[in-house]
Order: sequence, then C-alpha cells, then structure tokens
Amino acid sequence: MPIAFAVTAFSVSAESPPSRPRRSLGQHFLVNDRILGRIVAAARLSPGDTVVEIGPGRGALTRRLLPAVERLVAVELDGVLAAALPARMGNLPSLAVVNDDARTLDLATVLGPEGAYKVVANLPYYAANPIIRRFLECDRPPELMVVMVQREVAESMAAVPGRMSLLSVATQFYARVEMVCDVSPASFRPPPKVTSAVVRLERLPQPAVNVADAESFFDLARAGFSAPRKQLRNSLSHGLSLETPLVADLLAQAGVDATRRAETLTLEEWGNIYTVWADYRLSSAVAGAAVCG
Ligand code: SAM
Repeated sequence: MPIAFAVTAFSVSAESPPSRPRRSLGQHFLVNDRILGRIVAAARLSPGDTVVEIGPGRGALTRRLLPAVERLVAVELDGVLAAALPARMGNLPSLAVVNDDARTLDLATVLGPEGAYKVVANLPYYAANPIIRRFLECDRPPELMVVMVQREVAESMAAVPGRMSLLSVATQFYARVEMVCDVSPASFRPPPKVTSAVVRLERLPQPAVNVADAESFFDLARAGFSAPRKQLRNSLSHGLSLETPLVADLLAQAGVDATRRAETLTLEEWGNIYTVWADYRLSSAVAGAAVCG
C-alpha cells in the first residue's frame, strides 16, 4: 500500500539540509533552469491539468510544475526525499506525495478511477524502461508523457526502420514520439556518466497496429528481436519454436522478405506478420481439437 503524505504530517522543514544523493536510486538532480523550462514547455500544461511526476527528488521540476497545474501527484521511492517534499514546496494543497515505486504503483488507487492526466519526469535511468512500459501499457494510461532518459533510450524509442528495437516497437505501438532536446551531464548534480535527452510521447487514439491481442503481438515482436543479428526466419523460428520453412512461408504470406532483420521492419509489417501468425495459430488449434475429438 503506498504511503501518501498529508502535507501537515511532516516535521521536516523547508530548510532541512539535503541528504547525500543515492546513486543506486539514480539520483542525478537537474540544476539547469533552461532544461527545466524546456521540459515544462513540452508538456503544454493547462491550469486544469493533473500531472504525475515520477521521482521528484528535491523538487527542482516539481517547483516549476506546481504553479501550472491543478493537481500534482509526485511519486518518490526515497522515503527521506518524499517526506521532505511538501514542506520544501510550501505545503501547497495541490501537491500529493506518494512514497512508492513507480514500477509497481497502483495508478487507480493513486489517481482515482478516471480523468485525464500527464506524466512529467526526470526518470531514474536504471528504472526508466519499466516505468515507461508500465505507463504505456496500463489500464489508465496518460495522454502525454514528457520524460528525461538516457539519450540512447530516447533514440531507441524514436527510431525509424533500420534502427528499430523492441523498445521502439513497444513505444510507437502506443505513442507518437518526438525528441525534445539533448541534455549534457553538466546539467545535473552529481553529473551522470552519459548524455541524456528529453522525449515527448503523445498517446495515439488507438494503437498504431490493429491487433486482437496486444500481449501476443509483443510475444511475436520479442521473438523477432530475440536474435537481432539473425535473419527474421531464424530469429522467429527460434523465438516462436516453429520450423524455419514454416516461418518462411508465414513471412511470404505477410509479404515480408524472410532474410530481413527485425530492426528493418515497420510497425505495419509487424502487424501483417501478426495477422498471418494469429491465423496460423487459430487453424492449428482447430485442427488439433478436431484430431483430439
Ligand atoms: N526530479 C528530480 C530532478 O529533476 O532533480 C530528481 C530526478 S532523479 C534523476 C530520479 C528520482 O527518482 C530520484 O529522486 C529517485 O529517488 C527517484 N526514484 C528512483 N527510483 C524510483 C522508483 N522506482 N519510483 C519512483 N521514484 C524513483
């Protein structure tokens, strides 16, 4: 059960000295005003907005977001930082701080059953992928996410065919991806070892590919990327435990050259392969049932 701090529950004052950054929690605090402004601008906030901020830390971004929104829910795993945040932000009633892990957070409990919201965050890099996946795939997804991540991760989310990865497919299935800006290590205290980037994910009205079952669509894509250097007929054969000639036949039916690599496929092509594979699975299940019966 997440701990939601009431703004009056703290004895920590706004002047409490900051604790040492915990590298294990990805604590690299943003100290560049210009980048903070770029993040807030990319979120295109309106006064009635609800925003979820993941990892508010010492509140550099929180302080910029609060005047621009109606409600801000800040989810912080570090209990000391979570406890200190309300007082640091002047005990504003529009701020709710939740001491919990954003990878496993129950969003419906925190936000209530309905209502649009946005996610704005300078994410802890060690947990950026699971946090983004969770928000993209959950039953109560945000209309928009503006997140700072490692630059390679941002590039992978925004990649075009030729450089696609499972993360590109998973992100572009749900969202339109736009790079906002690169951010150098000097913009953080302590500085990370890598360059970062801000990326904007705008949720699509419906997934980019029309599939009956998103979970099995991702099983297929995961199989394709299980051996990214191999030709598709081999990676899919290995990942789906199907004979290579059968996979080559399914790919031909989908109009995809079996010698291509997973990184070259468009989402539409993944959708075509999915349709042929789903039909094959259905017909083999029917044939299996007929034999058993
Ligand atoms: N927003 C602050 C800023 O920009 O200066 C801090 C960003 S820092 C990169 C990441 C923050 O996420 C830290 O405050 C860290 O404690 C918090 N954090 C780490 N893992 C988390 C998790 N699984 N769920 C929620 N917050 C987490």
